[in-house]
Amino acid sequence: MKFLVEKYFSIPILFTIFFPNERRGNDFTSKEVNMKRCFLPFFFIVVSTATGQVDFNRYFIDRTMRVDYFHTGTKDSEVFALDRVYKEGPWPGSLVNLIDTLNLGEYFLRVYDASTHALIYSRGYCTVFNEWQTTDEALKGIRKTISETVRFPFPKRPVQMTISRRDKFSHFHEIYSVVIDPNDPVQICTEIRHKSPDIINLMDNGDIHRKADILILGDGYTAGEIEKFRRDAEHFNNVMFSTSPFRERRKDFNVRAVWYPSIESGIDRPDVNVWKNTPIGCSYNTFGSERYVLTEANQALRDIASAVPYDFICILINDDRYGGGGIYHLYTTTYTIEKNPNQAWRRDYVYVHEFGHAFGGLADEYYSSSTGYNEFYPEGVEPWEPNITRLFDPTHVKWQNLLTPAIDIPTPWNKENYDSLTARLSRFRVKTSTGTVNIDSMRTVQQSILRNPALLGKVGAFEGAGYLSNGMYRPSLDCRMFTLSLTDFCAVCRSAIERQIDFYAN
Ligand SMILES: [Zn+2]
Repeated sequence: MKFLVEKYFSIPILFTIFFPNERRGNDFTSKEVNMKRCFLPFFFIVVSTATGQVDFNRYFIDRTMRVDYFHTGTKDSEVFALDRVYKEGPWPGSLVNLIDTLNLGEYFLRVYDASTHALIYSRGYCTVFNEWQTTDEALKGIRKTISETVRFPFPKRPVQMTISRRDKFSHFHEIYSVVIDPNDPVQICTEIRHKSPDIINLMDNGDIHRKADILILGDGYTAGEIEKFRRDAEHFNNVMFSTSPFRERRKDFNVRAVWYPSIESGIDRPDVNVWKNTPIGCSYNTFGSERYVLTEANQALRDIASAVPYDFICILINDDRYGGGGIYHLYTTTYTIEKNPNQAWRRDYVYVHEFGHAFGGLADEYYSSSTGYNEFYPEGVEPWEPNITRLFDPTHVKWQNLLTPAIDIPTPWNKENYDSLTARLSRFRVKTSTGTVNIDSMRTVQQSILRNPALLGKVGAFEGAGYLSNGMYRPSLDCRMFTLSLTDFCAVCRSAIERQIDFYAN
């Protein structure tokens, strides 16, 4: 392990010593800038261009470095251990926006040039692990390991890669650091890891460096179901780019699908003891939730994905139980078979809703459905997601610049009636064997509240969001992140998605 020496690079500690007040500040971007400015005499050389970004060709070649690691811990502890480093195909991301300025995600990856300590790449992201930490299993004291991956442009010289996590004040603290030498043939795996891919080009709008590149994969499709996969990939891609703001910005995306067959059809349903051998290992019942679909087969997923350049992954599930999932900068999952033809729209809802999580870093705005989480948003902590808020300061709402002028904060919205209907219709549903009609009637009655013309399309602070009925607020009466319907994203969610598009398409 001569060139892969793990060591601690103690920027956070020094930061505390020299600038104790900055740690209580709330502005991520200025904190990053201040770090650079203040430490320049001590650590940093000037690497920024006039736009505050990094000169790509000075530090990188146009290939991708994939770093797999294991993320292990308990409810309130975590450690990282390096697994393997890969050299993959062309770098799919921006050559200009290398430093992440969006302030999204629970974790933050930083890559430094090892000899000069210049920050040359960063990216916010979320993990399956941080969600698992809020589950019943974690509360019992179980210790768990999950494989994860970070990717960045392939460096020319040794780099120091660090991972930081937010504290409850939303400040990042470094919790892992490793030095990687890109020129060490023993440590960098250059073998082709994908498996004879069949690539389907769904949207080609040009230079991968200047587009957000979406990769659609399938799980649980057998060799005989290749045509269904093609149809599904086309269908869901059309659904995405019929939805605002993706519709208006479709020229900023490339979309490819990679076909890889499954031995068995469908995916795992552990609650009914159904287990399927599939290439990506997707499963229902994640964290005990019947409808939550994730995979922990990260290495298999990344190997299959490496066939094409990608920034974002959408996994289509060849199964007929309602479900899906989406994690910021990780992937989405969506079920593709709806047995009730009158409810085929629900698959379309899931595909775009989950992409709101994975692409825009958006939170769930709903609060009346059960989840597998415990205190996902701890009391007294302002979430980092752009579309929900604790509203600690009603005179300065998180989305202040998008507020409808003169709207009441918080915004009254007939919540009491909405909640009592939810409770009554839920009880009714439980008593009957066929829930379909009852779900529809619940939606009909409640949507009359959500279509109140006096509030429709307005931006305020509506109580009830982020799995919490009280003390958490969402921007609008309704949104794709709130109800199970084909309603549009609210103005705040649209704005967050557009910021991400702007970051990738430049
Ligand atoms: Zn929204």
